Parts: sequence; structure tokens; C-alpha cells
Amino acid sequence: MKNKIQITRTQNSRLSTLDFNNLPFGRVFTDHMFVADYEGGEWVNPRIEPFAPFEMHPASMVLHYGQSIFEGMKATKNQEGQPMLLRPEMHLHRINASAERMCMPAFPEDLFLDALHALVGLEADWIPSGEESALYLRPFMFSTDEFIGVRPSDTYKFIIFTCPVGPYYSKPVRLIAETQYIRAGKGGTGEAKAAGNYAASLLPAQNALKQGFDQVMWLEGPEFKNVQESGTMNIFFVIDNVVVTPYTDGTILKGITRDSFLHILRDKGIPVEERIITIDEVVAAYAAGKLQECFGAGTAAVVSHVSEISYNGHLMTLPAIESRKIGNMLKSEIAGLRTGRIADTRGWMIPV
Ligand code: PMP
Repeated sequence: MKNKIQITRTQNSRLSTLDFNNLPFGRVFTDHMFVADYEGGEWVNPRIEPFAPFEMHPASMVLHYGQSIFEGMKATKNQEGQPMLLRPEMHLHRINASAERMCMPAFPEDLFLDALHALVGLEADWIPSGEESALYLRPFMFSTDEFIGVRPSDTYKFIIFTCPVGPYYSKPVRLIAETQYIRAGKGGTGEAKAAGNYAASLLPAQNALKQGFDQVMWLEGPEFKNVQESGTMNIFFVIDNVVVTPYTDGTILKGITRDSFLHILRDKGIPVEERIITIDEVVAAYAAGKLQECFGAGTAAVVSHVSEISYNGHLMTLPAIESRKIGNMLKSEIAGLRTGRIADTRGWMIPV
């Protein structure tokens, strides 16, 4: 480890209070967090300290102008009990791409990896061991200048905290194609994992819920034809035995699960296309009986099967989940890699 990370251990571990059989997603936090500060043009004082709330100045720029980005990743244990990370460098590259778009400083690559290793190593006993359970890691960065006025902040904080999570049982979702609001447009911030993108998605998501749907299928405006994503996941279709996913044109988050799925599919010789896919094509495939699968891809649930899609009042009911060969295979591949059940031939699994 190149970087000196100051470690202050908690005197009051909460580990013994943890019920590994009941881990609600995102509500349980481990004993420690990693923190670093950006001041005077450099990242300083990298440290691991007891997990605790912190004070914020009311004029802290993040609260007003929203320079805030984050990542979501998981640490798991393999069959020997060794903590492992899946493709951590992909998350590090993405957070720095998000930082660039939000006019924030890059975080040093080696310090990001050292911080993950130090923190996950320290919290290893919090990693649940069952397949599909994990320690969810949340790296994030936000502006901290105490100033009113729109400009990039000169100071920032970078933090990583972690949450043990159980198997993410995701019931199949009912999607409604959104034809009023957009998540992201060309030249916008859709490719950044920026907090504001999620704020902007809440109203359409709430409208979808009110209409009895679970998630929004995002279409690209102003025509509302090209499919972008499903809720906070990348979207995949299987049409006539070909896997199709929208290509990333700057409006779509470059999902790491999406990328892993593309590699796995190509390695298995399964036909896969990254291209524009319109909602009209989805409707036509459905009408022709060729729409075999639709699923979301993301770190948390890995695969989230879509059971129904509503578009302009037209409801499409997709084939039974048990028949979904591709989505079920991909979910099992990722879970298997994470636990060592499936051999890692691509060098994706990094021991902590
Ligand atoms: N799209 C959006 C908008 C997301 O928030 C996420 C979750 N990070 C994804 C796609 C999936 O990305 P990943 O596979 O890297 O988790």
C-alpha cells in the first residue's frame, strides 16, 4: 500500500448487534468509514475513522449547487472466506469521469484502491457470506466550500462507507415508458453518476408508482422513441434470440454490470447488439411474439426481470420469468464469480 492512511478504530463495535439474516438494503452501516479532504489543490489527510455523522455549514456549496457524485459497488467473500472486489478499477474510472463532468477534482487512482482495500479489510467480518449477499460500498464526493455563488468549489470531501446487504430479492418489475419527462439528454449529465440525476428522476418515478408501475422506462426526448434505461439500471432486451441493449451515447450511465454482461455474452457466443432500440421496435417485437426477455442490469440487484411494459396505454406482458434463459444465466454468472463458484478467467475478481 503506497498511501499512508491514518486508522482510528472504533471503541464500540456494533458488529455483535448485526442480524445477518435480516439485512434491509442501505439501512445498516458498518463501524468505520474512509475520509479524505481536498484543500489547496490536493487530496490530504486520508483516514479511516469510526462511522459517525458530521457537521455541515449551511452555506456548504453541495447543498445549493449540487456538486455531488457517487459509486455503488460490492465486496463479497469467496468460498475460502477471502474478501473480493469485482472490477474495482471500473468504478474508480467512472467516479473520476463523473468528477470531470461535474467540474470536481479527480481522486487519485492508487489512493482509491488503497482506501477500498484498507476499509474492506477492516470491515471483513461484516461481509455476509451467502450467495447474493454482500458488503455494499458507497464511495462519494461532494463540495464543501462555505460560499454562496455559482462556481466550482475549491474544497471537497471524499468518503467511503459500507453497508452489509442480504440477497436483493427483486420481484419482477412492471415498467411504464415515460413520455413526458426525460432522465438525460444529449450533452447533459446522464453519463455521470451525479446526485442531481437521481433527484430529477424522482417525480416521474413517483408518477409511475401512482399508476401501479414499479419503475420508469426512460426514453430519449424530445421524440420519446429511443429506449435509454430502466429506473436506475441499464436495460437489456432479448428479441428473437438476440440480446439488444442501447449503446452508451452520453445519455446513459455506463453500467459496470452492463459491461460485464456484454463480455460474458460475447464469450459464450450469444448474439448481442449495442445499438439504438426504439420503443416502436419493442412493440413490434412483442406483437410478432419475438420479445422473449427484458431486464435491468445493475450492481444492487444484478438482474431485475421486467414482467410488463406499458407504452401509451398499451400493456405488454412478457414471458414467464422461469423461461428467461439469458437474464437468469447472467445473474447466476455474476453471483458465481463473486463467490468463486465460477472460475474467474478474466481477472475481474480482486482479492482484498
Ligand atoms: N443506470 C443508472 C442510472 C444507475 O444508477 C445504475 C447503478 N449504478 C446503473 C445504470 C447500473 O450501473 P452498475 O452496473 O455500474 O451498477
